[in-house]
Amino acid sequence: MTNNATLKGNRPPDDMLGFSGSLPTSVLPADRVMSLGSICTWEWDLDAGAVLYSGAWGPLLALTAEGDIKGGLDFLLSRVSGDDLEILETALAKIISGEWGELDIPVLIKRHDNTCTWILLRGKIAPECSGRRIFAGIGLNISRLRLSNRFCPPHADDAQSTYQSMLDNSPVHIVRFDRHMFPLYMNPAMYEFSRYSPEQMGGLTAEEAGYDPGELGYLQEKINEVFDTGKIMKFRWTTSRPRMDAPKTTGDYCLWPEFDADGKVKTVICQFYDLTRQIAQEENTRFNEMRFSSLHQLTHMDDVPEDDVMFFVAEKIAELTKSAFSHLHILPSALQSAERIIWSSSHRALFAPEELNSFDPSVMRGEFGMDVAGGGEPVMTCVQNHPVDPATQRYFKDRLFVSRFACVPAMEGNQAALIAAVYNKDFEYSEADARQLELFITGAWHIIRRRHYVSALKNAVDEVQLASEAKNRFLASVSHELRTPLNGMLSMLQLLEFSNLTPKQAEYAKRANNTGKTLMRIISDIIDYSRMESGRFDLDMAPFDIAECLRGSLKIFYADASRKKLALRLSLKGEFPEMIVGDEARIRQIVFNLVGNALKFTDSGEIEVICKAKAQGPGMSAIELTVRDTGIGIPEEMQRKVFDAFTQVDPLATRKHQGSGLGLGIVRQLLQRMGGAVSLKSKINKGTTITCSLVFPIATQEEIDARRLALSVSKAEKTPFACPPMIILVAEDDQVSRMAMKLFLEKLGHTAVCVSNGREALEALRLYRFDCLITDVLMPEMDGIDITMHIRNRDFQRFRPSPETIMAVKEGDLPEPKDIPAGDKGLLDIDAGLPIVAVSAHAMKGDRERFLEHGMDYYLSKPVQIECLRGTLAQLHKERLLPKATNKL
Ligand code: ADP
Repeated sequence: MTNNATLKGNRPPDDMLGFSGSLPTSVLPADRVMSLGSICTWEWDLDAGAVLYSGAWGPLLALTAEGDIKGGLDFLLSRVSGDDLEILETALAKIISGEWGELDIPVLIKRHDNTCTWILLRGKIAPECSGRRIFAGIGLNISRLRLSNRFCPPHADDAQSTYQSMLDNSPVHIVRFDRHMFPLYMNPAMYEFSRYSPEQMGGLTAEEAGYDPGELGYLQEKINEVFDTGKIMKFRWTTSRPRMDAPKTTGDYCLWPEFDADGKVKTVICQFYDLTRQIAQEENTRFNEMRFSSLHQLTHMDDVPEDDVMFFVAEKIAELTKSAFSHLHILPSALQSAERIIWSSSHRALFAPEELNSFDPSVMRGEFGMDVAGGGEPVMTCVQNHPVDPATQRYFKDRLFVSRFACVPAMEGNQAALIAAVYNKDFEYSEADARQLELFITGAWHIIRRRHYVSALKNAVDEVQLASEAKNRFLASVSHELRTPLNGMLSMLQLLEFSNLTPKQAEYAKRANNTGKTLMRIISDIIDYSRMESGRFDLDMAPFDIAECLRGSLKIFYADASRKKLALRLSLKGEFPEMIVGDEARIRQIVFNLVGNALKFTDSGEIEVICKAKAQGPGMSAIELTVRDTGIGIPEEMQRKVFDAFTQVDPLATRKHQGSGLGLGIVRQLLQRMGGAVSLKSKINKGTTITCSLVFPIATQEEIDARRLALSVSKAEKTPFACPPMIILVAEDDQVSRMAMKLFLEKLGHTAVCVSNGREALEALRLYRFDCLITDVLMPEMDGIDITMHIRNRDFQRFRPSPETIMAVKEGDLPEPKDIPAGDKGLLDIDAGLPIVAVSAHAMKGDRERFLEHGMDYYLSKPVQIECLRGTLAQLHKERLLPKATNKL
């Protein structure tokens, strides 16, 4: 049909939009115009050829603009698809010719957006009007109705072809079996899978078809069951039949019966959905997870011995690739000089440990075709799925046949550092296996390498620590060795000062004594510093009055300051709490070092110690301690360095001032330990100002009261009182110190018997009941602590006096008993509660506590000051002997 008619005439009504020709209006009288709102209407002037479409065609045809409704019949016809166009054109021709009275046909129309819709076109030629023939009608969207099977019942033939096409195109594998499992029909998906047509398949044995004969029996059983019961069966089944990408096939199977007219099972349809690929993907995901978790485990094996880590890796690679065997071949590299092989546990089950260890790693060089010793040739990942050279078997003493393997290297730069080999998987190694192996071994090698570096670093740190400890031990022992003779020398000087000397001699003795004390201080500093540096010192926190502490600390400097004609002032500024909590002795040590330096390096002017206190937050007090002098100053380039140990501004050769170069180092260490800071300002020939900033907790009233009570008790204890003569055993290995102690004791009115080691002391105690024992701590053969333990634990029976000890006791000229027993008879039991005084050149903080912890009662540091000895013995008498005597009465 062609659009050769043209409409001419009036304007169309408002909802009539598209038109062609010169017909502006509907030619129907107003009462007959089809104003049907959103219904698609059309009017075709058969004589003029023009067509008028209502606006509702726009949305129906998915037109985007009003102007898209173009007039003419072609506008509609061009959208009618395929066969329908012919039908429509025929129908229109029949209506125009008068053969048909009415148009009533559904057509499939293509919309502007390329989608399709079914439209029912209905119309007829209106009675003549104004001499024109108008063919008017409507278009109704009936797509939904078309889909309803009430309007579109399946035709038998259609159904068959539909089902056939469904079978042909289904990705699911479908086979129709007869009772003998003969395939009567296979859909194309099944051919593709089986690689045989049903005709071919039917003539094959199970093996020829690629199945394990036993397996097909299982399927036959299932089919029989469906034939017998007529029931549907569903199951998952894995066959050995390989897919292209997997060694086995797993599928979800459904078997259902087809019945004949008598209701008997005629055939069985078997449908299976191949899950192999999906399972492989799941497996891959599982392997990835396993790989990540194994690597994660590896990162947490820092404390595990290296061999165990390697063994773990060897086991994991076998597990990851489902291999029966694996080994790691460690090649000589920057990290590992020795070549080694780590075998998996399955090897260990095959070989005795000594056999495994006796395998020469070099035999593995050509392992599985990987020539790692080839020099220059890159080592590549290698997968081989057929038995390797029988020569390889010899390495395993014919006990293991390598059927297939995969090897990958872990590289260190461009050199292989490690080769991971897996072998004898049940089925073929795939690229995915090699990839998993490669990823795992590379990750594992990175972790192993990191372990190496960390442990090398740890070893280096340990070595440094050991060296530092050795240095500290050396310093401590040297200091101790220096202290002992110095102690003897100072003791002799003290004794000398007590003797009748001319004023000049007395002056010399005094100076010698002072110099010795300075030397002693330097040695103490060395020990102190070495302890601080190694972090082996604790603060002794207690409430104390900082102002009082400063006043007390400065007292010892006034005499020296006035001798140098220097003004020494203490200024306290701000609000001082009654007491703060800190280590008073260490604060004194800081003040002592700073003021000592100020005095040493100032020749004229003044020294000012300024202490500022202010509250800082609740319960805290900020203390700023400044020592300012008008001395020689410190050159700028040295100002940071002077806080380092053994650093002094004056070079050794020209040094005018005494010192060890440790004072400021100790100050800095102490401040760091107390959480404080130190700063220094200095100008050459103008002076130096050193400021220490610290924050202390303010002592509570309760703490202050307790402290005051403790101070008043110890003051009372220190009040001297008369001590009656005692008979004292002295154990001291250093001859001079021994002699000095004897003379000191005699000078104090006591009687002393001296022995030179711990064994002799115990022997002497079995001969005579001494009032107390004064013992050096560090002695050869048996030290002071050992003696104490023997006494306290009543472990003395095996000590029998030697002739030397008997002689020493005899020489002591003791009052009672006169007869020293000979042999075992008459030997005394040592009193476990014997008072013991420790004397030691270990004079640092903590030493006293350590000795007391071991059961000693009193402590005197070397060099022993006669006044301290007097006080200690008086206290000992009061506390230990007097109560005993009173009890006896
Ligand atoms: P020492 O005083 O025992 O030598 P220190 O560690 O206390 O050791 O001081 C290190 C060096 O810093 C001193 O030798 C001295 O050169 C310099 N120094 C320290 N305090 C002062 C000061 N107040 N004035 C000038 N120089 C100082």
